[in-house]
Amino acid sequence: MGRIKIAAGNWKMHGSLAFNRTLFDAISQTASLSDGEVMIFAPTVYLDSLLNRGQELKSSVVIGAQNLSQYEQGAYTGEVSAAMLKDIGCSHVLVGHSERRSLYHESNSEVAEKFAAALKHDLVPVLCIGESLEQREAGQTLKVVFEQIDAVGELVGFDAVCNAIVAYEPVWAIGTGKTASPDQAQEVHQEIRAHLREKVGELVAGTRILYGGSVNDTNANELFAMEDIDGGLVGGAALKADSFSAICKAAG
Ligand code: PEP
Repeated sequence: MGRIKIAAGNWKMHGSLAFNRTLFDAISQTASLSDGEVMIFAPTVYLDSLLNRGQELKSSVVIGAQNLSQYEQGAYTGEVSAAMLKDIGCSHVLVGHSERRSLYHESNSEVAEKFAAALKHDLVPVLCIGESLEQREAGQTLKVVFEQIDAVGELVGFDAVCNAIVAYEPVWAIGTGKTASPDQAQEVHQEIRAHLREKVGELVAGTRILYGGSVNDTNANELFAMEDIDGGLVGGAALKADSFSAICKAAG
């Protein structure tokens, strides 16, 4: 089954109104020429203005949030709900990014609840999974990523995981300049797909599994050419119009 590749930029806690507009306009231009799907995960405070700009430009760039609350509403100061994201026109949301897991101690079960909250409000979750260097060196990569997937699958069903987007991001490769080699990444992607196939059968043939971890304009082509790598989730290189445009082309 042909899977449309995705170039997704995670802007993390970077940007300003002026910076975002310049970058977004440039990316929209590139996206209009690409056969791949282009996504931007922006800081919550800027989502509304980016969504409006997207409409003005009739941009094909998908705009998503970087996080959401697992709760419906209530006394959760500082949190943003799935319903609120949906209300402003957001369609996608990152769930379980490694920085959320490590810096904000999000557990597998919280990540699963966030995934469920996103589904309840018709947002497409991008489930981020990945092992630390210590876990890789201890030979635990697959155990760790399967546990991360299974926590979600057991709560919402594995079909729902397969209908969403998965991003394999080895923690040791995020923001470090150390990319997994295409073979190293492909090996894990293939195992993730095989693991999901055991749960859902051939539905997994359509599941997009992105690679994340120091993807840039020089390594994207080689990574995205691998059979089970359906594009990338990109941090640092997504903040530079030229680099991200090259990555969008690699996905297109
Ligand atoms: C990320 O933030 O998901 C990421 C992969 O970052 P970087 O590309 O900078 O490693």
